[in-house]
Amino acid sequence: MADDLSTGGTVLPITRWGTPVMHAATRPVTEFDDALRTLVRDMFATMHAAHGVGLAATQVGVDLAVFVFECPDADELVQRGVVCNPRVTVPETRDRALDSAEEGCLSYPGAYQVLARPDHAVCTGQDAQGNPVRVEGTGLLARCLQHETDHLGGIVFGDRLSTRSRRLLSRQHEELAHLYPDDWPVTPRRTSAG
Ligand code: ZN
Repeated sequence: MADDLSTGGTVLPITRWGTPVMHAATRPVTEFDDALRTLVRDMFATMHAAHGVGLAATQVGVDLAVFVFECPDADELVQRGVVCNPRVTVPETRDRALDSAEEGCLSYPGAYQVLARPDHAVCTGQDAQGNPVRVEGTGLLARCLQHETDHLGGIVFGDRLSTRSRRLLSRQHEELAHLYPDDWPVTPRRTSAG
């Protein structure tokens, strides 16, 4: 990246599930301008403050098809980037392997459930300058690329869980919700003791 957009941003409050912007399709990015790059910087700052590995624009209340990620793959190699107007492809049903691992979401903090997803994903789109990008992910990165692209289509991972898992997820979230201030991560997570 000619200009490192992963630093210098402002931490924004993270939008929670139930907010309409999180459950509707987003507008495609058409202007690759300074406003977009400011949004991307702020998204990186917010993701870092929340100790996340990916963040979609809807998670800071913006209905634009863009996400950022900084996430290890199956070889523990951390990949970082921005994808505008993402499309994800996963292997065809017959030769794909599913990875069953715990998944969580910064917009539903404190809760994790096992969700099976293809263990390999290719995400294509554009970077913050409008140049084509292609990110190939294995391990957690494969999951992240699918999770963030879902967000931009108005899908949260709870939508992909069974009724039973979703109920467990919501119970877990309710137990820990008091640790996350409304404007988290602008105000840090409270400690359990506090
Ligand atoms: Zn999420």
